[in-house]
Amino acid sequence: MKTSSARIQGLGTTIFAEMSALAARTSAINLGQGFPDTDGPDFVIEAAVDALRSGHNQYAPGNGIASLRKAITDHQRRFYGLELDPDTEVAVTTGATEAIAAALLSLVDPGDEVIVFEPYYDSYVAGIQFAGGVRKPVTLRAPDFRPNLDELRAAVTARTTAILLNSPHNPTGTVLTRDELAAFADVAIEHDLVVISDEVYEHLTFGAHRHIPIATLPGMAERTLTVSSGGKTFSFTGWKIGWATGPAQLVGALLSSKQFLTYTSGSPLQPAIAEALGADDSYFAQFTRQLTAQRDQLCDGLRDIGFDVFVPEGTFFATTDIRPLGFDDGVEFCMALPERVGVAAIPHQVFYDDIDAGRPLVRWAFCKRPDIIAEALRRLKTLPDLGRSC
Ligand code: PMP
Ligand code: GLN
Repeated sequence: MKTSSARIQGLGTTIFAEMSALAARTSAINLGQGFPDTDGPDFVIEAAVDALRSGHNQYAPGNGIASLRKAITDHQRRFYGLELDPDTEVAVTTGATEAIAAALLSLVDPGDEVIVFEPYYDSYVAGIQFAGGVRKPVTLRAPDFRPNLDELRAAVTARTTAILLNSPHNPTGTVLTRDELAAFADVAIEHDLVVISDEVYEHLTFGAHRHIPIATLPGMAERTLTVSSGGKTFSFTGWKIGWATGPAQLVGALLSSKQFLTYTSGSPLQPAIAEALGADDSYFAQFTRQLTAQRDQLCDGLRDIGFDVFVPEGTFFATTDIRPLGFDDGVEFCMALPERVGVAAIPHQVFYDDIDAGRPLVRWAFCKRPDIIAEALRRLKTLPDLGRSC
């Protein structure tokens, strides 16, 4: 009996599930998988309850309910000045994950090459593999994790069809500047490439760093599928309401495969996320203020313990180098940490083809309550002694 296809070879179990299971088994504080430990706003929950009680419980249209598609286009206009047709240029998906997978399945043929940052979010690897494509990494290296634009240009071949961009970037926290985005836009235009831009952390930027959608750059709206979701912005990661926006031709292509993956999902949650997207400016400001405080609390604490800390410009993840504490392999470190110290984190290494570039790096999530972060830091204080005894 054949029990697996070539399409799933080497995918294993996602590190997020693995580390969350380990955290649960050992009752460790989970600074691994990126999910908040508090719910999003009450008015959004109330909207979902109303929808559940008022008959929004059957299939939604395959491209999403009209009020959510309109809310998405209003959001893109309000924050970025992008004009989109809610009927043809928006698709609601089962999280950003499905939008990315459907985009890859619909746009990439076997043998086509996709340029993608490494460390890469793990579902990109799976999505490219499902489509039969080949990933061409552009590596973001410590300490600054900026893209090397010569490496980007060198990655393009006659088989390149797409760039899969992610900014703010998970796991490094890099937020691409306008100049960096312009370099990607130049390459995309020169080589006639489609860009799939994963912007799920669009509202999670700190200080002077601001998210700029690549679709706002000249010549890019017509070749970009922009992907986001309600998970991070509104702290409802379990709802899996995502979307893609872009030219009708690309959104239509995405829907061709999306309709046969899930067709549709989350009927009563769609109107609630529509409400959420209309939240006033104070919601977004307060959310960023709170996350900034948690970022600083975690980064300062990790630095005090002795890690080299790379303070993120965006996302809710901080990266550290573990070598100053006497460790050198992030996978070994993260596999032992829950049991030994009672905290879970994510090794960067699993997101690289260039294993050495990620080996000593570990990612910590700070979308957790300040008292939880404080307790995690208290537990981690025993690490310097453990490191020396290794
Ligand atoms: N892209 C990135 C970069 C992510 O970190 C995540 C994690 N949530 C996703 C996509 C998936 O988003 P969703 O939960 O909306 O599917
Ligand atoms: N995006 C989340 C993270 O990076 C994980 C989501 C998942 O488990 N698929 O932690």
